[in-house]
Amino acid sequence: MPESGPESKPAPRPPRLLILGGTRDAAALAHGAHARFGPRVDMVSSLAGHTTPPELPGRMRIGGFGGAEGLAAHLRAEAVDALIDATHPFAAQISANAEAACRETGTPRLMLVRPAWSLEGGGPWIDAADARAAAAHIRAMQAKRVFLTTGVRGETAAFAGLKDTFFLLRAMETPPAPETVPLQKYKVITGRPPFSAGAEIKLMREHGIDAMVTKNSGGALNQGKMEAARALNLPTVIIRRPPSPPGETAGDVEAALMWIEKLGVQ
Ligand code: NAP
Repeated sequence: MPESGPESKPAPRPPRLLILGGTRDAAALAHGAHARFGPRVDMVSSLAGHTTPPELPGRMRIGGFGGAEGLAAHLRAEAVDALIDATHPFAAQISANAEAACRETGTPRLMLVRPAWSLEGGGPWIDAADARAAAAHIRAMQAKRVFLTTGVRGETAAFAGLKDTFFLLRAMETPPAPETVPLQKYKVITGRPPFSAGAEIKLMREHGIDAMVTKNSGGALNQGKMEAARALNLPTVIIRRPPSPPGETAGDVEAALMWIEKLGVQ
């Protein structure tokens, strides 16, 4: 006689969350979600793979998806239930791809975006719409020795025309190959934030820096160089953020954790 009784249903699987990372905020979110939800959320962190991956809880995948279409295919194939875009505010391409892919697949998406620095309240700040405008400001002020803190990829090309200006660049890990740096006079140092204001002042003095260029990354992590610039009254060109795609935004990790909670975590 076959056993009879109520049919057992498979337990519902935990919601699968894809975190697009590459920032301290993304790492803090992964750690925060692990601490709060544990195995009740199936979490995957995605990194572009430009730097050594940090230790993160949950699973990790590394490398691009192949544009918005590739990301949409990934969301479907991996049955991703929700995506948090915790990439850097200047990583505009991946954020646009995430918006398009989530719209196409109907995947809930949140952007974790730290607040920008305010230029109000005084300081030696000069607003620039983009890297080209920043280079024009540096040319106009005839700065001779510039701390270019925009990272060693991408934005440096906008400063290539300033052939008589010395640039101090800072790489997170390995300095870039010289043939990839489109500048005439430059030096690359390495270091991983955070940097204290005192250390930044020392660095700027050592290199005789007379102007700084930074992206408006926001957040406390990069605050040291801003405090240093204010203390030295160093003319500082701040590149505005590119526009974010439309969508729901959280300003800090706690708000993002509350969004995860609403996904129906059991
Ligand atoms: P981006 O220009 O917006 O993206 C370029 C391509 O890199 C994307 O189209 C995507 O390739 C791939 N990609 C970027 N982030 C990814 C991620 N988290 N997971 C998988 N693939 C990713 O980005 P970026 O400005 O080069 O920045 C790259 C990474 O560095 C980002 O994760 C960002 O959070 C981090 N970061 C950037 C900055 C900055 O100033 N831009 C500063 C600190 C950290 P496919 O199209 O093939 O999918």
